[in-house]
Amino acid sequence: MDHFLYRNGSLHAEDVALSEIAAAVGTPFYCYSAATLTRHYQLFTEALSPMPHLVCFAIKSLSNIAVLKLLGDLGAGMDVVSGGEYRRALAAGVSPDKIVFSGVGKTAEEMQLALTHGIRQFNVESEPELRALSAVAVALGKIAPITIRVNPDVDAKTHEKIATGKKENKFGIPINRAVEVYAEAAALPNLQIVGIDVHIGSQLTELEPFEQAYKKVAELTETLRAQGHSITRLDLGGGLGIPYERSNSAPPLPREYGALIQRTLGHLGCEIEIEPGRLISGNSGVLVSKVIYVKNGEDRDFLILDAAMNDLVRPSMYGAHHDILPVIEAEAATEAQSYDVVGPVCETGDTFAKARPLPPLQADDLVAFRSAGAYGAVMASEYNTRPLIPEVLVRGDQFAVIRARPSYEEILNRDSIPTWL
Ligand SMILES: *Cc1c(COP(=O)(O)O)cnc(C)c1O
Repeated sequence: MDHFLYRNGSLHAEDVALSEIAAAVGTPFYCYSAATLTRHYQLFTEALSPMPHLVCFAIKSLSNIAVLKLLGDLGAGMDVVSGGEYRRALAAGVSPDKIVFSGVGKTAEEMQLALTHGIRQFNVESEPELRALSAVAVALGKIAPITIRVNPDVDAKTHEKIATGKKENKFGIPINRAVEVYAEAAALPNLQIVGIDVHIGSQLTELEPFEQAYKKVAELTETLRAQGHSITRLDLGGGLGIPYERSNSAPPLPREYGALIQRTLGHLGCEIEIEPGRLISGNSGVLVSKVIYVKNGEDRDFLILDAAMNDLVRPSMYGAHHDILPVIEAEAATEAQSYDVVGPVCETGDTFAKARPLPPLQADDLVAFRSAGAYGAVMASEYNTRPLIPEVLVRGDQFAVIRARPSYEEILNRDSIPTWL
């Protein structure tokens, strides 16, 4: 459930009409609902309530500091994958002992940053990283708390670009080598083993791959404990999918996911950490865009929008579907038309949808892409020198710009011409 609904025929974010925001900030823009973010976070904390737990929001899905503050104030921890994201978490006021650091390519600088300001744990993904982290920790005179990310070799049954738990993927260490790698970690100075980490992919729409992976993690916990390692935390990653198409059957709910965790891992007495991104942020955001032209082609009509692939790359990158709604609701009797919905960028890949049934639309009409909160703004670029679009946060009847559209001056001033040119 989210808080983007029609009221008197006009699409609202909570109590604010999207058309009102469009008039104030211009299009295109991202709009997030605080009530929806809150609700989705709470679904996870409720689902895990029978076990000691920490829900760490995956910042990479939506990294605006205002959103991080909102979630952090509710008690969320954060999952970061770069020094930049770590700085965002600190800027949002999140306590370092609630920040976990993931990612296959952490640099020595990033390790220093996190060890200096504090970190809950590093989720280490390789043996060279273990050695590098140990060396940085020794140099700083700090102890680095770690889990090791194991790759359980399960098929997450999701899009190939976001499946991470098969042995051919670059992530983690093969689970059958875990005993060896944990022994090495235990022997290295200034590392403190606290648990095990696993993350098998994103946009999972079935529980079965999680179940397979978590059963392997349960076995591994017992094995490692038998070897004398202290395993007190299990970081289970993110990955629960969301319904991008309202018409399709819904993916499992956090409640069912929580019950699965309890069933497969509850008996171990570990603190459970999860790192959901998409399920918290995805349906908490929409992208609002304006129709520039309706172009009648030979065999189809094109809806040319002022948003493009640089603003929302998921359709061109993953072939992803986003529901598109007219901001002003069509009369019930209106017959749908079929449109190819495209942006102005000079690439055929700049297509949001083909043959999409929509009510008849005209230039200057507004449309909203649903489920655009996750992997939307964070993946945007300024391709074609199109300014990054603003982000707006709504709570109740209030809204605020939480990232402003840059001016052309700011954009152009980032380039410099060498004196010798
Ligand atoms: C991407 C990622 C997440 C978040 O995934 P979602 O599908 O957005 O829930 C969590 N943990 C790690 C390590 C990731 O790479």
